[in-house]
Amino acid sequence: MGTAGARFFGWVVGGSHPVGVAADWLTSVWGQNAGCYEGAPAAAVAEQVAAQWLIDILHLPRECSVGFTTGATMSNFVCLAAARGALLRRMGWDVDLDGMFGAPPITVCIGDDAHTSVLASLRYLGFGERRVVRIATDEAGRMKVAALRTALARCPGPLIVIAQAGHIMTGAFDPVDEIATLTHARGGWLHIDGAFGLWARAAPARANLAQGFDRADSWATDAHKWLQAPYECGCAFVRDEEAHRRAMTIAASYLPDAGANDAIRDPLHYAPELSRRARGFALWALLRAFGRQGVAAMIERHCVLAQRMARRLAAEPGIEILNDVVLNQFVVQFGAGEAAQQRDALTVETIARIQAAGVCHAGGARWREREVMRVSVISWPTTAADIDHSADSMIAAWRAVRRRHAHELLDSARIAIQA
Ligand SMILES: *Cc1c(COP(=O)(O)O)cnc(C)c1O
Repeated sequence: MGTAGARFFGWVVGGSHPVGVAADWLTSVWGQNAGCYEGAPAAAVAEQVAAQWLIDILHLPRECSVGFTTGATMSNFVCLAAARGALLRRMGWDVDLDGMFGAPPITVCIGDDAHTSVLASLRYLGFGERRVVRIATDEAGRMKVAALRTALARCPGPLIVIAQAGHIMTGAFDPVDEIATLTHARGGWLHIDGAFGLWARAAPARANLAQGFDRADSWATDAHKWLQAPYECGCAFVRDEEAHRRAMTIAASYLPDAGANDAIRDPLHYAPELSRRARGFALWALLRAFGRQGVAAMIERHCVLAQRMARRLAAEPGIEILNDVVLNQFVVQFGAGEAAQQRDALTVETIARIQAAGVCHAGGARWREREVMRVSVISWPTTAADIDHSADSMIAAWRAVRRRHAHELLDSARIAIQA
């Protein structure tokens, strides 16, 4: 599928901007293994500069250390590995040497609406999907603070809380201020999955949504989503550099170690891979090309475009938008006013028609026991004209489904009368 296209609204995926693609071609041509500074100093420095720029535009704590990964799944993994190591060290347990068997138990609290990939990273770390404490969420998918408070009261001991910036259906943000206060009062580690939502902090008009998220201890985000970097590029930020480095470090006598020199940084100590792609070049180039204002303008534009499409759809009888469009995500149901089962069927049918029409692409999902169509506006080439053209196509598909449905009703009425 043309997932990098202007009218692709299917998943939260970026559009691989040509500036990043060009830098990525060079990266392949140069073909360096970017693990160590000594072998690829420019790659290491490009990462370091990009890391500082990211901390700057996302308004994260200056002291953060940054690792570049394949995506947010691995960034969540990196951050949670740092959390696991730091918390267990405080309990007198060295997880790096002694592993998880017999380690003091850590309570992991996570919202019921967390992204499924976070549970995967918890699995990789030996936390187990079923062992984590799921916290109830509200109608927009935000963690309920009262539910977290109750859970914390029941679970003493070391604690990790995972909050979310940007829900993949509604774009909603967890109430992080209260979550941070509760977590830190317990000496816990607060991690943020902000794969795309953390970027709200880079756009002044949206920053209020993600206010307080800098109170966390670690953050995962993606550059291959809202920053439009070519795949694969995720970023892991950890406030405690020592914890980050200890969780990821790889050492050998034949690997030159820049460790003693504060100005030099070996990328391999901050992410899982030893041999690695020089991701810093594409990142550096994109941040340089967009600039602070360019990034802010793109994010704001996508949010405004999402609202524009939602408004156009909502104006059509029978189409219902199920969330407040605060960011770039919304969910739609077709058949408003019909019985629940009928709405589900009409929605599934309308999505199929929209996809078959080929003007744009949006996909289905289940949300709060309903079949819905979800829309993500996150591709750099998308314009207002693309939004209008796509909304027209969606409305036309819905009208066709509604007409067919009306005919069916009429037919069955006729048959009933004849009988
Ligand atoms: C996309 C996404 C992830 C996973 O990121 P990948 O880059 O696909 O590994 C995690 N959390 C959220 C909220 C996401 O949107």
